[in-house]
Amino acid sequence: MDLSRRIYPLDPRELTEEQLAVVFAMTSRNPQPFDEIAKVVSAEKAADFHERWVVNYGHASVAEHAIIHMALENISRLACDTLEDNRLASYTEKSSRYQVLDQGHYHIPRELDGHPLRDVYVTTCDSLFRAYQETTEKLLEYLRGTTPQNEGERDSAYNLRLRRVSTDVCRFLLPAATLTNVGMTLNARSMESAVRKLLSSDLLEEQEIGEAMKEQGRTITPTLIKYADRNEYLVLSREAQQASAKEEVNQPSYDDCRVELVHYDPQAESKLVASLLYRFSSSPYQDVWQRAEAMSQPEREEVIHQALDRLGPHDIPMRELEVVDYTFDLVMDYGAYREFKRHRMQTYIPQPATVDLGYIVPDIIMQAGLEGHFREGMQTAADGFHAVSEALPGVGEYLVTHAHLRRVLSKVNLRECYHLFKLRTGPEAHFTLRRVMQQALDLATQRHPLLFKYLRLRT
Ligand SMILES: Cc1cc2nc3c(=O)[nH]c(=O)nc-3n(C[C@H](O)[C@H](O)[C@H](O)COP(=O)(O)OP(=O)(O)OC[C@H]3O[C@@H](n4cnc5c(N)ncnc54)[C@H](O)[C@@H]3O)c2cc1C
Repeated sequence: MDLSRRIYPLDPRELTEEQLAVVFAMTSRNPQPFDEIAKVVSAEKAADFHERWVVNYGHASVAEHAIIHMALENISRLACDTLEDNRLASYTEKSSRYQVLDQGHYHIPRELDGHPLRDVYVTTCDSLFRAYQETTEKLLEYLRGTTPQNEGERDSAYNLRLRRVSTDVCRFLLPAATLTNVGMTLNARSMESAVRKLLSSDLLEEQEIGEAMKEQGRTITPTLIKYADRNEYLVLSREAQQASAKEEVNQPSYDDCRVELVHYDPQAESKLVASLLYRFSSSPYQDVWQRAEAMSQPEREEVIHQALDRLGPHDIPMRELEVVDYTFDLVMDYGAYREFKRHRMQTYIPQPATVDLGYIVPDIIMQAGLEGHFREGMQTAADGFHAVSEALPGVGEYLVTHAHLRRVLSKVNLRECYHLFKLRTGPEAHFTLRRVMQQALDLATQRHPLLFKYLRLRT
């Protein structure tokens, strides 16, 4: 028997993703090395194994070893939000900060085929895209007049720098219907869940994307996502939640982002100390907890200091920080929301996209004298939204612009807070999300100065 250590990759060019998953699954009962097992796992045997064990027996985690890279092009940003609402997956999406979009670059929902409101929808989108393009050019002109070229900066670099500022700001005028491309890498288990969610959507576009993903995904994993279907639990509970949440009150509207820290743990410091002590103790948690509670403040501070003081700029703080969490009620523009929700470790619960909560006007738009133009765009979007939503609830969301404010509840643990606040308050972060994250950080720091003392921000 060879007991020497062996570490090697299995090559996806030699085995299909479903075969790879079975080779790993079989190590559970088979004493052979992986490469020996691989020799006897044919594609048919893999399909039979998955059908029997993963689908029927419920050993679903085996499907995590089968990986799919899915390219999606020209889907609306609204649908992309639903697609990206799967925590255990990786995404890279076309950036609206760095690419200028052409007229007509938007999705027209099939719900509007033959509907009298189709014209209203198309006119609204055309008008927003026109406003986006005109404002981008006008802002560029303003920037040329107010931003000096750096010494030694080439003309092309200077123009690119200004264009980036301009597109970054003017994207606020784009509606959620705007098309995007996204590359997605995920395992077959997550894929099944993503497809099920899409098929359970009320929007036809999302259902169609779900169907296409299922069909295309089956070219890579024929068995593992075969049974992903529209899910009654998701559909019926959503309807029930909508019915119970119905309220008559008139919500206020805002002209800026807002942050409220709605829950935090008054025992956070002791909890963190207890979890830090627990790992290297041999006592039950209750005993460790009592010890942490009985400590003096300087003793507690010392335990936390030892755990966090050595954190370098690229280090990930230890898992013990996950025992503390914060819940924020956030109001942010849809553009910021799209970036914020990409932080997968948080729990985020968005309310539907709407124009009724108000919108932001970027400072530079006002400085450039383009406020009137911008507000006209917002009015166009609001009129279109109300007309379409009244007849086809849900479809109106396509007309919400990136400037419109949206409410989202977010529960974030302290470990993720360190990552999120560092990344999104940094100079590279988009300016509205940066403001929201700075406020969230300030609120959390006011409550727990000791816990955030070791967070070193990028400047
Ligand atoms: C300046 C800037 C520009 C950006 N431009 C683009 C862009 O053009 N297009 C685009 O699509 N996105 C863009 N993003 C978003 C970015 O790619 C991330 O998706 C987003 O910031 C979420 O952060 P995160 O992946 O670090 O971590 P989170 O999802 O917040 O997760 C927290 C941490 O958990 C770990 N983690 C989470 N998931 C995994 C995983 N699957 N595998 C391994 N480790 C994991 C990592 O350590 C990660 O840092 C940009 C972000 C910034 C800040």
